[in-house]
Amino acid sequence: MTTQTNVDPSELEKFGSLAHRWWDPTSEFRPLHDMNPVRLDWIDQQVGLRGKNAIDIGCGGGLLSEGMASRGATVTGLDLSEKPLGVARLHLHESGLSVDYQQISAEDWAEQHPSAYDVVTCMEMLEHVPDPSSIIEACAKLLKPGGQVFFSTINRNPKAYALAVVGAEYVLGLLPKGTHDYARFIRPAELSSWCRHAGLQVEEIIGMKYNPFTHKCTLERNTDINYFLRARRIASEK
Ligand code: SAH
Repeated sequence: MTTQTNVDPSELEKFGSLAHRWWDPTSEFRPLHDMNPVRLDWIDQQVGLRGKNAIDIGCGGGLLSEGMASRGATVTGLDLSEKPLGVARLHLHESGLSVDYQQISAEDWAEQHPSAYDVVTCMEMLEHVPDPSSIIEACAKLLKPGGQVFFSTINRNPKAYALAVVGAEYVLGLLPKGTHDYARFIRPAELSSWCRHAGLQVEEIIGMKYNPFTHKCTLERNTDINYFLRARRIASEK
């Protein structure tokens, strides 16, 4: 798939229309705010962010990008949606942090910056693109040999449908209706297989439990709904 076609314009529009509320922790983006400290701690524990060169693919309004910058990483944030990037850039004035935000596809940036990053993150994004495997290949290409990539997405099974779509969008109204398309959810085995094809070694798959009532977010063994996957670029290859 070419880089021009590996994007769904309706997805970009969806995030664009809500972007002005990105940093409001009571908005539609509340789940991202609630999960941010947990995922940031996990990434930091694995790589030690201070002094590292990191890139955040599908960064949106910049919650994770800023988080990594606040832990001392040099961060680039990529997204194809203009409005979230505008919000992300504006927020830097408030936080005083520095992140290089770019409106370009992961595939094109990887062409220009191969083997440039110690850390690649791509969270809550793969389930919004037509060809996730192409994004995963770009992530692998962006990594220095031995570097690590961190993905998060949603599993595809009846339980995930019931909780992540029906529960979150229709019953609780936690997310706007239509936020997630069940057909684009990704099973851990599929994500792992795409990683291996891209020359990545899968090192950890861990579940994330989100309680929509207490807004508590914790890592757990169960990967039935939300999960994280950590993989490393095999040092001897490419
Ligand atoms: N990763 C961020 C934001 C998740 S929301 C976080 O977890 O906090 C999903 C983001 O993916 C949105 O900002 C949307 O614009 C972006 N996105 C969707 N398709 C994309 C594509 N093909 N390339 C780059 N970004 C994309």
